Amino acid sequence: TNDPINSKVVIITGASSGLGEATARRLAARGARLVLAARREDRLSKLAEDLKAEGAEVTWKVTDVTDRNQVESLAATAKETFGRIDVLINNAGLMPLAPLDALKVDEWDQMVDVNIKGVMYGIAAVLPTMREQHSGHVINLSSVAGHKLFPGAAVYCATKYAVKALSEGLRMEAGDEIRSTNISPGAIDTELTSTITDPNAKQAADELYKVAIDSDAVARAIVYAIEQPADVDINEIILRPTAQE
Ligand code: NDP
Repeated sequence: TNDPINSKVVIITGASSGLGEATARRLAARGARLVLAARREDRLSKLAEDLKAEGAEVTWKVTDVTDRNQVESLAATAKETFGRIDVLINNAGLMPLAPLDALKVDEWDQMVDVNIKGVMYGIAAVLPTMREQHSGHVINLSSVAGHKLFPGAAVYCATKYAVKALSEGLRMEAGDEIRSTNISPGAIDTELTSTITDPNAKQAADELYKVAIDSDAVARAIVYAIEQPADVDINEIILRPTAQE
């Protein structure tokens, strides 16, 4: 087919739920060759079976993005299975919101490890291959929280500002070979708020997420960035529920 997405090799981290899963479904329907990654094996294998039943070419690998070796081996799996890497979607992330005073320092560590270091390990794992190919596309999931601060979300916002910096830094260094896209969603209905352990923060998030929209809205935005011709780089997409403040 002439579909620019057809047969692209796409790695998706955090593919076991939410935005990652929705994006996998959209891309599979367009003939992309997928490499799905996350920690939960049961979810990944089930999704892969679903997509294969619909005729998609899919593989998956249990991956904890906080472990650099596991992220390297994820990229190696993509190359062994499909021979190249066209797109990396750095989507794995978590959002255990709490005010700084709550001193949930372990959760701060976890957010830095997954939301920032996971993204950097992803870039490190694919960049040499993309340079060899003289083409590639890195798509990072930042957030509206990477553009404005919310009280009670300082560390999460810090990680998403960092992601935005990485996207823009890569774009500036990438020359005409590698595209870099920063995706910044507002409230989307996923499992993201499930890691909030602070009761007040959970209540505030549940209130904000009353207007949340479906994951497929973000999947469509990601598809739009990928389907552009190689000389067009969609640098940033911000999308919110129409009803979000
Ligand atoms: P979900 O909680 O539904 O999905 C998060 C995904 O990340 C899961 O697949 C989870 O899989 C994976 N993950 C978490 N920790 C790790 C880890 N250490 N290694 C590998 N995978 C991991 O939330 P969303 O789909 O909403 O989140 C996806 C991204 O979108 C995140 O980066 C989030 O910050 C961002 N985002 C979401 C918004 C929203 O409102 N939903 C708004 C703005 C941005 P598993 O547990 O199996 O490892």
